[in-house]
Formats: sequence, C-alpha cells, structure tokens
Amino acid sequence: MSPMFVPGPVDVSEEVLQAQTQAMIPHRTPEFEEIFRNADINARPLFGTKDNRVFITASSGTGMHEATVRNLVSGKMLSCVNGAFSNRWHQVAETNGKQPDILELDWQQPVTAEVVADKIKGQQYDIITIVHNETSTGLLNPVGEVAAAVREVAPDTLICVDAVSSLSGAPVKMDEWGVDVILTSSQKCLALPPGLSLCAVSERAMAKAADVPQRGWYFDFLRMEKHRTTNSTPATPAMSLVFALAKQLERIAQEGLENRFARHAAMAERTQKWALARGFGLYAPEGYRSPTVSTVENTLDIDLKALGNFLLERDMRIASGYGALKGRTFRIGHMGELTVDDVDVLLAAIDQFVEETK
Ligand code: PLP
Repeated sequence: MSPMFVPGPVDVSEEVLQAQTQAMIPHRTPEFEEIFRNADINARPLFGTKDNRVFITASSGTGMHEATVRNLVSGKMLSCVNGAFSNRWHQVAETNGKQPDILELDWQQPVTAEVVADKIKGQQYDIITIVHNETSTGLLNPVGEVAAAVREVAPDTLICVDAVSSLSGAPVKMDEWGVDVILTSSQKCLALPPGLSLCAVSERAMAKAADVPQRGWYFDFLRMEKHRTTNSTPATPAMSLVFALAKQLERIAQEGLENRFARHAAMAERTQKWALARGFGLYAPEGYRSPTVSTVENTLDIDLKALGNFLLERDMRIASGYGALKGRTFRIGHMGELTVDDVDVLLAAIDQFVEETK
C-alpha cells in the first residue's frame, strides 16, 4: 500500500476493502437489519454519545450539511466561518433558501466561546453551525467551550458540528459538550471508502425537526428515524459500504478509541515539530493545531509541484493547499490507518527533496 498523507480519501485496510466484496442480500431482511442496527450502536462511542441515534446515509458529509439546515431551520441561523468547509456549510444553507447570519473570522483565528457568545447575545437562532476540524487550515476549533457558551447564552439554540475530519481521530464528545448534531464522512479518520455519511442527532433536534416544514424527502430526519427504528433506511442503503463500516467499527474497537486518538496526536506532534524545526511555518496558531492534518506554510519557498512528483515516485502523496492557500501551503494528512513510522518515512523524503534542491 502506498501511503496517502492526504486529508481524505485515505488508505483503507485490506480487511475493510475485502468486507465490501460480500455478496448482496436484500436490505429488508433480518440479516442486513442486524448489521445496520449494530453499525448505529457501535458508532455511538465515536461520537461520544450513549443514547443519541446515528443516522447512516448514502451520501458524503456535505449531504448532512444539507440535512441539518433543511431539518432544523425555520427561522434564523448562524454560520461560524473560519475556513473553506465552514464556508461551504454557509453556502449550503443559502442555497437551500435559508438566510444565515455569518460570524466570519480570519482563517488563522479559532472560533472561540467569547466571539460566539458576543454574536448570539439577544438573538434567537434556531441553530449555529461550527466545523470542529477545518481541513483547509489544519485548525481545531474549541467546540466544547463554544457549546458551553451557547448553552448558557442561548439555551434554545441547537448546536451543529461538522466533525468530518476529526471523528475517530480526535475526541468528539456529544453528550459531554451538549451538542445536537455531529456529522462526519466515511473517507477521513474512519478510513473507509468515500460514500457514507454518519450523523448523530439529539432528541432536542428531533423535536425541532417535527416543527420544520418542507424538510425534503431523502434527508428528512423524521423519515430516517421511522426507518432506523426498524433497522433500515428510507431508500436503498449503500450496502457494500455498510459492510465495510461494520468491519471498521470492529477494528476501531479493537485498537481502542484512546489509543487511536493517541496515535493521531503523536503523528501530529511529529509532523508539526518537524515543520517548525526545518523553518517551515504552521498555518494554524499554537494551541489550535489539528491532530489529523497539518497545514504547513511554504516559508522555505520550495517547488511544491516538484515535491509532489518526488514523493509520488516514492509512492507517497501529500495534498496541496486548499483554494486560496494553494502554493502558499501544503497539507500533510495524518489520519486513518497511518502510524508515526509512516510519517517518519514521509518527513525523511521531504528532507531529502529539500536537501537535493537547495
Ligand atoms: N467538512 C470538512 C471539515 C471537510 O474536510 C470536508 C471534505 O474534505 C467536508 C466537510 C465535505 O465532506 P464530503 O466531501 O464528504 O462531502
């Protein structure tokens, strides 16, 4: 396997790839329903929730951005934006006919409890949206602190969190933080092929959805819940991916969540210390750097295209900077199945490239 140090889609283990090749069975059968029920239940610890349901849908994570705004917004909402993906969620809201207010920060600034509390004071927002781990900038927002502030200042506002590039690579604590929606995609830290989205939803959010008209059909939380309680989905599920998910949840439980988080943290520490020691910068400020992806500032002005080719010849891939950050930054994903040893091989290769092209 040639390691992909990109922030998704990431390498998938052979065992999980194999699980997808299982023969199809009708989805409305006790065999499949058991697999589906177990996937919901076994995914809950990854979200840090004991009792909240996890909807599993055939879509990528952006589908759940759409589901959140369609199901939970009949009045006002607030988008917290400090990167490309929080901006996308804002656009998803706008294109669904919602009129989101925006709390827009510099991309190198975290969304903090103070700025959010200030913004929502005296407002009646149905939801606020926040991205836990901004994959474009390698910045981890302090969602727990923000959620505590929202619960205090605007207790009726539902808190919706995108954990697309953090869930299962960093602690996500739905119950402890008191948040209402946490969504993720399969192709990041979960180390599954793309195509599934998982979304944990609170009772409060389900109650709100019941009051929101025109939630659509495919992503209607109430319709999904009706089918989930009979261990199924309204439409045909992506069965091969569900087989893969079931296998990967087993593997994650075997590794142990704490071990998994520690492995991601160790890879981040190795990468980020290396970057600073070599004279590169890190785009995200200290204290808010992501455990799953590092956005490195190209302060040494190396030829990033040539670096990409050099790594490819050695069977490795990194990611370029996202959008406007292309050229100025490059990204090293350290998520999923990767280990510190893999990261060491990559960093040594980058050192070699820098040395040879000096
Ligand atoms: N949110 C974040 C933080 C992401 O990194 C991404 C994709 O990279 C998305 C949302 C969109 O997810 P998807 O491509 O699964 O729709």
